Amino acid sequence: MQTGLPLPTQTQRVSYWRALLVVLVSILGGYLFTALSFVVSPIEPSRFAEFIGPAYVIATIVPFLVAFPVSVIIQRQQVKLSEALMELEQAHAELAFRSRTDGMTRTLNRDAFLEDLSDLQKTGLNGAMLMIDVDYFKSINDDFGHQAGDEALALVAAAIRSSVRDQDLAGRIGGEEFSVFLKDADLNLAMQIAERIRVAISEIRFSPRLGVKRQITASVGVALGDSEVRLDDLLRVADHCLYASKESGRNRVTASETGWRVV
Ligand code: GH3
Ligand code: MG
Ligand code: MG
Repeated sequence: MQTGLPLPTQTQRVSYWRALLVVLVSILGGYLFTALSFVVSPIEPSRFAEFIGPAYVIATIVPFLVAFPVSVIIQRQQVKLSEALMELEQAHAELAFRSRTDGMTRTLNRDAFLEDLSDLQKTGLNGAMLMIDVDYFKSINDDFGHQAGDEALALVAAAIRSSVRDQDLAGRIGGEEFSVFLKDADLNLAMQIAERIRVAISEIRFSPRLGVKRQITASVGVALGDSEVRLDDLLRVADHCLYASKESGRNRVTASETGWRVV
């Protein structure tokens, strides 16, 4: 699962070469304009020599005095504008990221998870849905306090995130309940990843108090989806399997043998 924001794009800089290019183009334009003004001027051609020198000196100096600073000033404004736009873009991306992410566990929040799955549903939910619920979580809160419970949840989420692939979706869909959608996974791969998650959670080193170690375990339900399945059905069957794991002793993985179809 991918977490984190995209890196900002590179900033623009003032280019003095570009300013010189502007000066050069202005000088060439000035020369052309000066030559044309001589052609259309009422001055006798015999007197051109008197004016041509000063005219071309002016046509050379003025671009340096005007075009160069103006070009630099405009470029500085452009840099400021592009920096402001970049900050805005970053703020927007951060806001979008935060609005989709559960801050404590850095997994997708419930709405974002379901929204992504609804999008996937349009082309078919081919893959496996995993429902993961921490076992006896209430007792962690009761024994060590709510803050310790929060730490345990963050550790569980980290174990889940590190056990899935980049293309998978992982979300916190309830208090101590997580869900993972494994894109295009078959039953074999789904069982492998579900087991990897279960083991990773059971191996978390959780020390809620100095000198105290507490094992955390979770139960997992697995349902396989296909191009015909509706999201609600897939979630319902995965949930059903999760409760089968709970009832048969917890800290285990149960898969629906019939995919998402209830027979
Ligand atoms: P089971 O094995 O049957 O799942 O037992 P459980 O204790 O995990 O389940 P139960 O539904 O009885 O309790 C879930 C607890 O999770 C109750 C609630 O206070 C706690 N919880 C939910 N969200 C949070 C949270 O964000 N932080 C903390 N610390 N606790 C939470
Ligand atoms: Mg629980
Ligand atoms: Mg629960």
